[in-house]
Order: sequence, then structure tokens, then C-alpha cells
Amino acid sequence: MAKENYIKCSFCGRDKREAKMLIAGQNGHICELCVAEAYKIVSADIEISKKESAKQTLTLLKPAAIKKYLDDYIIGQDDAKKVLSVAVYNHFKRITSTVKTEDEIEIEKSNVILVGETGTGKTLMARTIAKLLNVPFCIADATVLTEAGYVGEDVESVLTRLLQAANYDVESTERGIVFIDEIDKIARKSDNPSITRDVSGEGVQQALLKLLEGSVVNVPPQGGRKHPDAKMIQVNTKNVLFICGGAFDGIEKKIASRLNTQAIGFSNSISTAEIDKANLLQYVSPQDLKSFGLIPELIGRLPVLTYLQPLDAATLRSILTEPKNALIKQYQRLFEMEGVKLEVTDDVLGLIVEKAIEFKLGARGLRSICEVIMLDAMYDIPSEENPKKKFTIDLAYGKEKLEKSKLAKLMAA
Ligand code: ADP
Repeated sequence: MAKENYIKCSFCGRDKREAKMLIAGQNGHICELCVAEAYKIVSADIEISKKESAKQTLTLLKPAAIKKYLDDYIIGQDDAKKVLSVAVYNHFKRITSTVKTEDEIEIEKSNVILVGETGTGKTLMARTIAKLLNVPFCIADATVLTEAGYVGEDVESVLTRLLQAANYDVESTERGIVFIDEIDKIARKSDNPSITRDVSGEGVQQALLKLLEGSVVNVPPQGGRKHPDAKMIQVNTKNVLFICGGAFDGIEKKIASRLNTQAIGFSNSISTAEIDKANLLQYVSPQDLKSFGLIPELIGRLPVLTYLQPLDAATLRSILTEPKNALIKQYQRLFEMEGVKLEVTDDVLGLIVEKAIEFKLGARGLRSICEVIMLDAMYDIPSEENPKKKFTIDLAYGKEKLEKSKLAKLMAA
């Protein structure tokens, strides 16, 4: 007994009477206080090395490498990927360059605006970039935002999400990426702004300006309405990259009419003969966004403009099987966990694509169609006593499941 009292913490020297707990190692002991202290040191160190490695990734990646990474996850959309890779590269070059040049050239922020139908990969593009760069990322929906003082969310709530994504670490929040979805829905409602107050349209656009251009913003830590006593967190958005996305339904008409007028006036390098009428989105310009109802100040703060192509059948089919975490690969993994090899025949892939095109939801429709086809199998197989080693989904099976589903009824309605 007496000997036990001599056991000491090998780090601080306290003996068993002073320490609440002594953990034995091979040649010594450690007390609970030293464990806590060691934990603090280790986690601080890990945090520093995480930040260091994040900084290194930021400086090391060249635009071609960024694009190559995007290629693994996103099918097609080459123009958008290229534009985005350059924008992100320049953005981080700007952040990491601490030396001020003598000629005082200051590289401006390269916030991005992506125009493209729903389900063409706008969010995926922003999310993949954030993952690559290992920076906090959040998605905000422009439709819920209103001008301060009105029912809805203040624009600052966008940054609350980013803070949350960064675990309230302000420094990493300030290097994060925000994706603002449905930016087209806050377009000016009418050409004459003075008729009524446009609190969820032009008002929000005005309010967004200060976030986008980079300023110190008071952010409510819990989001929602600002509360007078809530302690605000100050976030500088100078280095936050904003990527806005929108479907801009009907913008093709504005593009077409601009191209026509320009062609008549011989003022453009694209002659009418060269215009690819099937895909007018590729000619989208800031002017078109203005005609759509975005205010020029906002357009000015989103200097990088690019578009995403509508997805054709071949692309949709590749999306099903090719990306690193393609849908079919995900289902195969799920079945594999049950010890079953899942096989989906080519004609079923064709059927899924055909239905997705009918749904007009872009690639987003693929997921719900797959769910319908796979549901019964995913329900039954886990409780089967001796499941077969292989499960094949062929055309007859796929058609049967689709026909039986509510989805098919919805489509028929
Ligand atoms: P958007 O933001 O344009 O409405 P999303 O990026 O949310 O569309 O796309 C919805 C889903 O569709 C994504 O999660 C992804 O699985 C798939 N998807 C869309 N476009 C592509 C693409 N080009 N390559 C791979 N997957 C895609």
C-alpha cells in the first residue's frame, strides 16, 4: 500500500494523493491534468498544421490542375470549369500574395456568376471547388433573403452559415466560399423601380453589394433576425469568394435579341451565320443579366460570368456512371455492404436517362428515378437470410418498378 502512494505523474511529479487519476504507461504514469494539457498542445499543433497545409494547397494548384480535379466529379461543362479554375486560381493568388507591388496594382476580387438550367451542376461545381481547396463552404438561397427590416432573412445570415461551416473560426471563415443559389429570383420585378418597394428583389441586390465587394460585416452568430442584445461577430468578406448561380429562365430571348441587333448593326465579331441557335447561353454577357433585372452594381461585383450547358442524353448517361462518386457507383457500394454485387444493364441506364429528360430536372431527376427502381431491392435484400451474391437490374425489372411507382403517376398527370 505504502508503495502505491509513491506512484507519481512522470510529467508534473504529483503523486497519487494529489492527482484524481494516474494512467499507467510502460515506464511511467500521467495524471489527468497533464493529459488535458497535452491534449491542448497537440490540438493547437494539429490546427496550425491544418492551416499550413490548407495554405499550401492554395498556392500549389495551377488552373489546369484545378480543372483536372473538377473533371473527376463533373461531366462536361468545359467552359465553366475552365473559367472557374482561372477565377479560383487568381482569387487565391490574390489572397496569398502579401507583397504589395510598387505600382500599387491591386488585384480585384473575382466573384463568379454561373448561368444555367436547374440540375446542370452549378452547386456541384462550387462544392467541388471548396472541397478541393479545403475551405469552409456554404449554400445560401437568395429567395429567402429580404431587405433589412422586412420579413425574411437579412443578407448577413449568409455569413452565419459560413461561420457555422467553419466552426466559428473567423479566420478560416474569411477565406471561405459562399454559393448563392437562385440569384435570378431577386431580379428587379419591374422596369420602373419606383412603383412599389421591391424588398425581396432590388432591395436584396443592394444589400448584397457590401458583402460581395468585401467589407467588415456584423454577423449574428445564430442567424435569423438581428437581436439587439445578440453579440455580433465581425467577418471581413474581402477574401470570401462568392459564387452565384441562377437558371435565368428566358434569358435566351434577351441574348437572341441582343445578338440580332448587333448583327444588324455590324458591330459584333460574331456574324448571324456563326451563331449556334440551339445553345444561346454560351453568348451570355453582363448586358443580358442587366436586361434580366440585375442591377449594374451587382453585375459589376460578379466580374466572372460563365454558363452551364443543358445536359443532353449522352451527358446524363455519363453522369450516372463516370464521376468519382457517380450515382450507380454509390448504389453498388450500398449493395456491396450487404455482400451483393449490383449490376445495372445498359438499357436500364438508357431508361433512367429517358425519364430524367421527361422530368426536365437535369441530372437531379436521375437520383429520384434510381431511388424508385432500387427501393424494393434495398428494402428486401438486407433481411434476406441467404441473399444472392449478384443482383441484376435489367430493363424489364426497371420498367416494372417505374410503372408501379407514384413517380410514374405524377408524370402521367
Ligand atoms: P444546379 O445547382 O445547377 O441546380 P446541382 O449542382 O445541384 O445543380 O446538380 C444536382 C445533382 O446533379 C448533383 O448533385 C450531381 O449529382 C448531378 N449533376 C448535375 N450536373 C452534373 C455534371 N455536369 N456532372 C456530374 N453530376 C452532375
